[in-house]
Amino acid sequence: MAFPKSVDVTGITGAAVVGPPVSWQTRNGPFNVEHLAATSAANELLTFWWSPQHDWQVVNVTAKTGQHATGAVTAWQTRNGPFLVEHLAARSPAGDLIVYWWSPQHDWQAVNVSAKTGRKIAGAPVSWQTPNGNLTVEHLAARGPGNELLVFWWSPARDWQALDVTAKTRRAIAYDPTAWLSHNGPLLVEHLAAASPDGTLSVFWWSPAHDWQALNVSGIAGGSAAGRAVSWLTATVEHVAVRGSQGQLFTYWWTPASNWRVVDVTAITGATIEDVSDVYQLKETNANAEILGARGTDDTLLRFWWRPDRDWQVQDLSAASGVAAHAAPTTWLTPNGPATIEHFATVTPRRSLVVVYDDGESRRLTDAAGEPIAPLERLTGRAPIVALLWDPHRPSDPAPSSAAVDDKIFGATNSVRDYYLQQSGGAFTIERAGVLGWFDASRPPEYWWGPPDTNDTDGDGWVNPHVQKWAEAIRMADGQFNYKAFDRDPLDGALRPDELGVLIVIPQNGPFGTNRGVVGREFPNPMPLVVDNVTISTMAEAYIGAPPNLGVVAHELGHLVGRLPDLYFSLPNDGMWAGIPFDNPFAAGDYCLMDATYNGAHLCPFLKLKLGWLRPRLILRSGRYELKSVERDREAWILMHPQRGTREYFIVENRFPDNTYDMNLPDRGLGVWHIIEDPAIYSVNIPPVPPNAPAASRQDWWAQKWALIAANDWGRRGIRMIRPVWDTFRPSQSLWDGSDPATGYDLLPDAPPPQASLRWADGTPSGFAIRGLSPAATVMTATVTVPW
Ligand SMILES: [Zn+2]
Repeated sequence: MAFPKSVDVTGITGAAVVGPPVSWQTRNGPFNVEHLAATSAANELLTFWWSPQHDWQVVNVTAKTGQHATGAVTAWQTRNGPFLVEHLAARSPAGDLIVYWWSPQHDWQAVNVSAKTGRKIAGAPVSWQTPNGNLTVEHLAARGPGNELLVFWWSPARDWQALDVTAKTRRAIAYDPTAWLSHNGPLLVEHLAAASPDGTLSVFWWSPAHDWQALNVSGIAGGSAAGRAVSWLTATVEHVAVRGSQGQLFTYWWTPASNWRVVDVTAITGATIEDVSDVYQLKETNANAEILGARGTDDTLLRFWWRPDRDWQVQDLSAASGVAAHAAPTTWLTPNGPATIEHFATVTPRRSLVVVYDDGESRRLTDAAGEPIAPLERLTGRAPIVALLWDPHRPSDPAPSSAAVDDKIFGATNSVRDYYLQQSGGAFTIERAGVLGWFDASRPPEYWWGPPDTNDTDGDGWVNPHVQKWAEAIRMADGQFNYKAFDRDPLDGALRPDELGVLIVIPQNGPFGTNRGVVGREFPNPMPLVVDNVTISTMAEAYIGAPPNLGVVAHELGHLVGRLPDLYFSLPNDGMWAGIPFDNPFAAGDYCLMDATYNGAHLCPFLKLKLGWLRPRLILRSGRYELKSVERDREAWILMHPQRGTREYFIVENRFPDNTYDMNLPDRGLGVWHIIEDPAIYSVNIPPVPPNAPAASRQDWWAQKWALIAANDWGRRGIRMIRPVWDTFRPSQSLWDGSDPATGYDLLPDAPPPQASLRWADGTPSGFAIRGLSPAATVMTATVTVPW
């Protein structure tokens, strides 16, 4: 296990710094040497280095060269015959661009580039190099005192020169630029990007074929830009990350096919930033991870990452390491046997240069927690749903207006559509393909609830009136609706639920629903149901409730489109079980739509995690943590022990309602969930017998009750709520609330019943503890202890 650790470079070297650091690496024979540079409060440029032979050391470059520096530093290396030359550049307190260099032949030297070119600078420079025949041209760019983008370059043939790119392109910059190179056929194209004074991202480029050009990328893609920019390339894609005007992390990218686009990483991850400052990429588990280093608000050190099979995620490395980030971090990678060590260097509020490093395991554990579990898949986009309103005209159960049904399913607010938008943070919802009907049933009401026509005595091809009813509703709508138009992914004659979800709505005062297979006739042999030349084989039906019930439709569409499992527990109401409840305090109950459906509450956090809708925060270090309501912020803590593996862990969420779908919960506070993904564990280990249960619950038959749950029923067996009061099922005492002694006690790894505890399914204490819970509120805090 290698969770983030830190080393205090200032503590070792005695040298304090204030400016954001820059990093680079060199070889010394067989050894890799890691270097950092940063400016001090006295405007001195300090470089630090570490090699396997030596701990961190420092040299004061200003003392050697007489040139002072302030703010951020850029670093690059060149070759001079057999020698490697290390270069740094920074701004002096007087606004001069100073270039420093060191080679094995010489100690540090410096040159004042502003004195040579007549151009002063107002921000930190960025550097890049281009080949010119056998020679290397060294380039720098920085913001000038008038918000102009200045480019400086040096070649062996000529001394330093400078150019005002803003004068050529009429686009000014307000923050420090980033630079990258690309190829256009045989030509090398030099790019710069920076936030402009109007709050947009500008991209500048130059090639031998063209002089400098510029583009307002935010004008094309949207978003904003109000901070330094960072750039990187993947195979054919150019990327720029930048802070937006409201502290968002925006990532812009460009391909020839797509032009510039933008993604709001803050909207996805929930993390706002002060600065994004560095980037690296890693190949791992068969994918390329793109990783950004940033400073969050409140001096947090943040690691953002993106993989093709995940969206953007974020980790708070300050929470993981205890290191506060008062300066934008620099990042670098080093090999360590088969592993890669990821390094972040930052400056603390007390001016210490600190390195935070790990082997990325906590990132990979977060990825593993979000790994889909069959048959669930990460669910994004818009799922077309057609609602077919079919009315058998039972006098006791009058139909609501079709407009009322339409509004409950597809309306702007307080609707199934809005429910899924909120659950998924906008990633997924249903889309109105149509609302058709009411259609009048072809037979009187008593027919549909009558006995089966087992041998089809009336010769209509139907045995079960309910099966007949589903086909009837689908066929009645055929004249008004083009089913075939939705058979597109692929166009194969089979209309699957992910192409079009068919929802049959039936009037009934009490809500109820199912998902079932449908056929075109039953007798003598089942025949497929074909309409518009496409076969429909599955539908959801909702007895809609009076007034129309949101939960029943959301639940049935959860099955149909999301393949979600049922989580409710019930016993046969006959034989030995007559009158006995499945009194299971580990059931999700009111705290998951897939159990107690009709209050329309949120899904349990495990289902959201696997659908890709949750923001998982692995707890990597003992400490006191905040947790915002899942309804508002989609956050949850993941308590995962690396030695236990990734298939059994705990999820903690804050179920304080934010006035929408969790509004009707019977309790409020932290929901604590024990998750078991491994069938070898959940099929064998049932939860412990509830203590002190009333005799009527017959918990002496606990094992027999669980024997009725299929061994592969992962939803019911693998998702277990840990309630503070668990003698019996008690919805109003299900969440953890520090203001209530009955539900706010410390949750320990090994408490004896009747106290709940954080044990693994095999009964061993997990080592995790949650203590000192705050009162139930929109933001709750607790002290989490980890067992390492
Ligand atoms: Zn169900």
